[in-house]
Amino acid sequence: MEINMNGKVIVITGASSGMGAAAARHLSALGATVVLGARRADRIETLAKEIQDQGGKALAIATDVTQRDQVKKLVDSAVGQFGRVDVILNNAGVMPLSPMDRLNVAEWDTMIDVNLKGVLNGIAAVLPHMKEQKSGQIINTASVAGHKVFTGSAVYSATKFAVRALTEGLRMEVKPYNIRTTIVCPGAVKTELLDHITEADIQQANKEYVGAVGISPDSFARVIAFAISQPEDVDINEIIFRPTSQEL
Ligand code: NDP
Repeated sequence: MEINMNGKVIVITGASSGMGAAAARHLSALGATVVLGARRADRIETLAKEIQDQGGKALAIATDVTQRDQVKKLVDSAVGQFGRVDVILNNAGVMPLSPMDRLNVAEWDTMIDVNLKGVLNGIAAVLPHMKEQKSGQIINTASVAGHKVFTGSAVYSATKFAVRALTEGLRMEVKPYNIRTTIVCPGAVKTELLDHITEADIQQANKEYVGAVGISPDSFARVIAFAISQPEDVDINEIIFRPTSQEL
C-alpha cells in the first residue's frame, strides 16, 4: 500500500530517541512536515537537519512536556511556521519500573507528570487549533502495560491505563470538531526506555527480556503512518502491536 501524508503537519513529542525519532523519519519520508519536541535540543536539532538535508520539512523546539507553556509553544510554533497542526503524537514517556515497596516516590511523580500530564498538556495545546480547523488527529502512546499490570509496573501501568481512559473520553467529546483520536499500545520495542530504570536488578531483567524479544522502533513508525493515512472518515481508535515472540 502506498502511503502519502499529503504535507500533513505532525507534532511529535519525545522525538529525540526511540520510537518518536523513528516516527519522525518515517513520516517525513512519506511527505509529512514534522515538528519535533523533546528536552535534548541537540538531538532534535540534529534530526531536523538530517530530515531537511533529505528534502523534508522539519522544525525542532526544545520542550519539556511537563511544562504546559512549553508544549503550547511547541504547537503554536508549528501553526505559526506551517499554518496548521494536523496531528499531535503525544509520545514522550518514561518507565522507571520498580516494586512499590521500594518507595521510589519521586519516580512515581515523574511518571505521572510526563506520561499522564504531558499527554494532557499536548491535548490542551492542540484542541483550540483543531476545533477551529474542524479537523485533526490526536495520537497518544500508551502501552501493552496500559492493558496488563505486571510486578514492578504498577505506577507505569497506572499512567498508561489513564492515557487510554482519557483518550476514549476525548474521542467521544470531539465528534463535533471532526477530530480523530488514536491510542497506540506497543509491546517490547528496543529503545532507550530501559536506561532510566534506577533499580539495577529490575533494569537487568528488563534489558534481558527486551534484548531477547524486542523489535525495531520502525514497527511503531509504520503503525503511526497507517493510522494517520486512513481517509478522514475513518478513525483508528486503538492499535496494540507486539513482537511476535512476546507472550505478555
Ligand atoms: P525512549 O527513552 O527512547 O524515548 C523517550 C522519549 O521521551 C525521548 O525522546 C525523551 O526525550 C522523551 N521525554 C522523556 N521525558 C520528557 C519530558 N519531560 N519532556 C519531553 N520529552 C520527554 O523510549 P521509547 O521510544 O520507547 O518511548 C516512547 C514512548 O513509548 C513512551 O511513552 C513509552 O512509555 C512508550 N512505550 C515504549 C515501549 C517500549 O518497549 N520501548 C513499550 C510501550 C510503550 P528527552 O529525554 O530528550 O526529553
